[in-house]
Amino acid sequence: MTADNNDKPLNSHQMQENADDLHYEHATCGYCSCLPNGTLVKVNQTLLQWLGYAREELVAHRRLQQLLTMGGALHFGMYGEPLLLLQGYVRELSYQLRHQDGTTQPVLLNANLVRDADGTPLMVHVMLFDITARRQYEQELLRAKKLADHQREQLAELNAALLENNRLLTRTNADLDTFIYTASHDLKAPITNIEGLVKLLTHQLPAEVLQQQQVAHIITLMQASVDRFTETIHQLSDITRLQQSQAAPAESVDLAPLLDDICLDLAPQLTEARAQLTFALDQCPRVHFAPRHLRSILYNLLSNGIKYCHPDRVPVVQVRCHRNDTQVVLEVQDNGLGLSPKQQAQIFGPFQRLHNHVEGTGIGLYAVKRIVENADGTITVQSQPGLGSTFTVTLPEVA
Ligand code: ADP
Repeated sequence: MTADNNDKPLNSHQMQENADDLHYEHATCGYCSCLPNGTLVKVNQTLLQWLGYAREELVAHRRLQQLLTMGGALHFGMYGEPLLLLQGYVRELSYQLRHQDGTTQPVLLNANLVRDADGTPLMVHVMLFDITARRQYEQELLRAKKLADHQREQLAELNAALLENNRLLTRTNADLDTFIYTASHDLKAPITNIEGLVKLLTHQLPAEVLQQQQVAHIITLMQASVDRFTETIHQLSDITRLQQSQAAPAESVDLAPLLDDICLDLAPQLTEARAQLTFALDQCPRVHFAPRHLRSILYNLLSNGIKYCHPDRVPVVQVRCHRNDTQVVLEVQDNGLGLSPKQQAQIFGPFQRLHNHVEGTGIGLYAVKRIVENADGTITVQSQPGLGSTFTVTLPEVA
């Protein structure tokens, strides 16, 4: 151990004092003592280091209050000192120490008042804890809380906007349903009349007029328009029925015979286009679904695959079906005209016709989407213009 100036070994008392001194001077907190009026009489090394003053600049020259910021000094004078006098101590008063270079440091101040035998205040012992890290942490917490509050507000706003959008969408959907119902219902009578009138006209016109090429052509065009109109109304009625009887009874449907049946209906188009069809159904030969609706889905997708074929190649349409854990996945792939990303986003809306070189109503895919979504399924399309398209329908697997 160390020796004193005369190189004599220290006794245990001196060693203790030495250790006490070292502890006092280099403690992890700042210590100081002052007279009751605040005049500093003792300051430890730690506090001197924090403040940036030499001991002689403080001891007997400054008061404790002068080490604090103005607000802190005021608070100490009005609250700390009276409390100290009243109860003999103060605890955890939060102040900012003012360093010599003008910077500040957050501290907690504890102080004890020592009185003499008569009770007259003699000395105040002060302990200052550096709480810079704690303040930073508190500020970070506060910042994080503010951010969280802000994000919560944003989320609430988004939620409200979503709810509003949902409400509008539901209303638009309802309006659309009403429109489709009214349109299909109200247009039936006039088109039936027009059809009757065209027939009547054909009967009334003298044979020589009917045989005139131009007249015959006009009547054929009129009949074709009436047919198209009637077809549209039928499809619209189908959609209305779909909405009214959402819960058509499901049953186990064999895909192969269903597809054969559809091919029979499509025979003229298949022959004309010399289309090739392939079916890969081994992984999922049967599907539990309302047969009429399943037929509608496959009929529309298959007939579109042929209708929108590429002029430079023989149409090849593949129908595949497989199961995953929870779904039946039906895919209809063609090598036809394909669709741009913009067109892909449009095709499932009602009356969307993106190719006009063939006849159509623009309702088929809309109806398919309604059927699929009514059954909690999905329909998507992947396509490349000029190469072809794949329509994927997923239907929830019935346990
Ligand atoms: P429709 O065929 O009666 O016009 P759909 O609702 O079935 O009505 O299809 C809407 C539009 O989507 C079609 O007019 C066509 O432009 C486009 N389309 C549908 N299927 C395909 C396909 N397989 N390849 C390219 N375009 C397609």
